[in-house]
Amino acid sequence: MIEKVDCIVIGAGVVGLAIARSLAMVGREVIILEAENTYGTHTSTRNSGCIHAGINYPQGSLKNQLAIRGKNLLYQYCPERGVSHEMTGKFIVAIEDEDIPVLHELKEKANKNGLEQIYIADAGQIKEMEPNLNCAGALYSPTSGLIEPHDLMTAYLGDAENCGAVLAVNTKVLSGEIFEKFVELVVSGNPKSKIRCGLCVNAAGHGAQKIAAAIKGISLETVPKQFLTRGSYFVMYGRKPFNRMIYPLPKDHAISVHVCPDLSGLNRFGPDVEIIDEVDYSFDAERVSFFYDAIRRVLPDLRDGELQPGYTGVRPKLSLKQATSNDFVIQGKNQHGYDSIINLYGIESPGLTSSMAIGEYVKALAGII
Ligand SMILES: Cc1cc2nc3c(=O)[nH]c(=O)nc-3n(C[C@H](O)[C@H](O)[C@H](O)COP(=O)(O)OP(=O)(O)OC[C@H]3O[C@@H](n4cnc5c(N)ncnc54)[C@H](O)[C@@H]3O)c2cc1C
Repeated sequence: MIEKVDCIVIGAGVVGLAIARSLAMVGREVIILEAENTYGTHTSTRNSGCIHAGINYPQGSLKNQLAIRGKNLLYQYCPERGVSHEMTGKFIVAIEDEDIPVLHELKEKANKNGLEQIYIADAGQIKEMEPNLNCAGALYSPTSGLIEPHDLMTAYLGDAENCGAVLAVNTKVLSGEIFEKFVELVVSGNPKSKIRCGLCVNAAGHGAQKIAAAIKGISLETVPKQFLTRGSYFVMYGRKPFNRMIYPLPKDHAISVHVCPDLSGLNRFGPDVEIIDEVDYSFDAERVSFFYDAIRRVLPDLRDGELQPGYTGVRPKLSLKQATSNDFVIQGKNQHGYDSIINLYGIESPGLTSSMAIGEYVKALAGII
């Protein structure tokens, strides 16, 4: 007998869980299918853990709308559900005097994009707030913050389960077919089994394109090509040179890395950008010399030996441009012709920040109130 369910969400990362929560909380029957043996083992726990303010995404883009909405939702939700987070603030810094006009342009862009709370910091403020920071000037974003992604996913899953949702782990979606009134998926197991649903949401991160391409009915022309970049993080123990996130200007991406303390006080530096062909989280400790050079631009007294290998994450991208130039792609009937399936592609940064807003967006796209 073929099992039937109202809604299936493929992928138990922060985005799939947020979508499952949003569907379950309006009374939908939801099963979350996850290939791994637990939730959140891929991109959702291999990131910087920043709540982005929504400063630098193209006006009107999904990233612009969903990051700002998602940030506001997170700051309401986290205290209610005891999710570790902190509105630490963030400095975006120009290292050279010649780059200070870029800070002003960025501020104007952020204001036009609907972000009011962002200021050019003066030298006195910078010295007082971050005495160790070397820079020529800085933009201060007070609503940027830090969050513990695993806590957030546990809260989303808890909400979804309290409304009857079920997480099926070790359940990989292999293929499927779209019929007039339902989608049928083939899932791993011995033997493989079939499951039908009225609504299928493909939120499988790196796996989204592969799944969509294996579902009969989805035109391959609607499936965007995926590019992968690996970002490595080095960490530092023992002292805390900065209290807030420090982001050298985005234009410096090739020569700079971000400084992101985590909520336990660990200093994290990264990610850098390395183009790769397959999802591979291996860590190349040789990259450390690039990190010393990049970090000393903002923290000149960084001593040899202070950086230790951290971890890596892999961005599922739709082009090799910076995350601020690419948009999320969320496809429903208008793009592929079916009411019964929604595909999410290229959910790189700021996907963690946007997760609750993506949950709302997908629910609305499915016509569910
Ligand atoms: C280096 C880095 C730094 C980042 N920093 C930030 C940040 O500071 N702030 C921010 O807002 N965002 C950040 N992001 C982006 C954010 O982490 C992602 O947008 C978000 O985690 C994506 O979540 P997801 O649920 O779509 O993907 P994932 O977490 O990858 O989850 C997808 C799930 O689908 C499952 N899956 C795949 N294929 C199948 C299949 N066939 N069947 C069943 N299950 C399947 C996987 O096992 C996985 O659990 C960063 C990303 C990276 C890589």
